[in-house]
Amino acid sequence: MITLDELRLIHDGFPWFFPAAAFVFGACIGSFLNVCIYRIPANKSVVTPGSHCGCGQPIRWHDNIPILSWLLLRGRARCCGRPFSVRYPAIELLTALLFLTCALEFGPGKAFCAMLFVAMLVASSFIDIDHMIIPDRFSIGGAVIGVVLALSVPALHGRIVPPGMDPTLGFMLASINAGTDAVLGLFVGSALVLWIGLLAEVVLRKEAMGFGDVKLLGCIGAFVGWKGAVFSVFGGAILGVFATLIWLAFRRREPLGSGPTMQPVAPPAGTCAPTSVEADAPSGEASPGLMGMPVPFGPMLSAAGLIYMLWAHPWVDAYFANIGEVLRQL
Ligand SMILES: [Zn+2]
Repeated sequence: MITLDELRLIHDGFPWFFPAAAFVFGACIGSFLNVCIYRIPANKSVVTPGSHCGCGQPIRWHDNIPILSWLLLRGRARCCGRPFSVRYPAIELLTALLFLTCALEFGPGKAFCAMLFVAMLVASSFIDIDHMIIPDRFSIGGAVIGVVLALSVPALHGRIVPPGMDPTLGFMLASINAGTDAVLGLFVGSALVLWIGLLAEVVLRKEAMGFGDVKLLGCIGAFVGWKGAVFSVFGGAILGVFATLIWLAFRRREPLGSGPTMQPVAPPAGTCAPTSVEADAPSGEASPGLMGMPVPFGPMLSAAGLIYMLWAHPWVDAYFANIGEVLRQL
């Protein structure tokens, strides 16, 4: 068994060791997430069978090394030359970089929680992109895990044992505070999306946000607290607008009314625009995209939640503190 002191020696002697390990670990988890993204919506086991090619041949371990194998094989299967999507190494690289950031930004406890959060968000975002659904095991499961982690690792919500206090008592206090932060984030996050969704439904007279988004933001709130949840809703909406503009720029050439999605662009002169174009929202708990736009909202909420946790929280928290000051002076 390696002791804590030995780990500290490794960290002091080789400062790059743990960040590099986090990057490699992230690439491996990203590889597993690829399997989850593909198999969970199809109700298949994520454990068996092992990775295999579209032609049925099993992929050997040395052809299944995250990021590297795809590059070495130039995106083609060794057995039959079938192309593999660039999305596989991209998800592995994305997860690896996010894990690296967690390792650089946070202490070990919070870094571990943040990595779980990253994995959950990456998987649910790409499932949402593919199928316009967010499985409950990620959103509700993630919310439960978020609260449990907050209670056991109070540093997740920046709660530390006050210096000079009895360690056991101090930990209990920090744990209760962090648990409260998580539950508050869960309720504020999900309630906010629920109310915005209901309001938009009244105004737009159609479903504007799926219940999957409500549960996902509950989960995000459990990990980042209520300020992070509020930031995620509005940050996510801004990202959604940008994503929609990019989507429109690439889809503009298609004739109006040909797609099932809403086209909020002016029709070219001389054409007859349909008076109303209904968004083709999938049934069930599918998210119909932000305000009827053809972009799934889950990835936007996830990206904003991560931006808050990894980089933006000092500014966002200072902003909320400022509002609090102003309100107190009234
Ligand atoms: Zn093959």
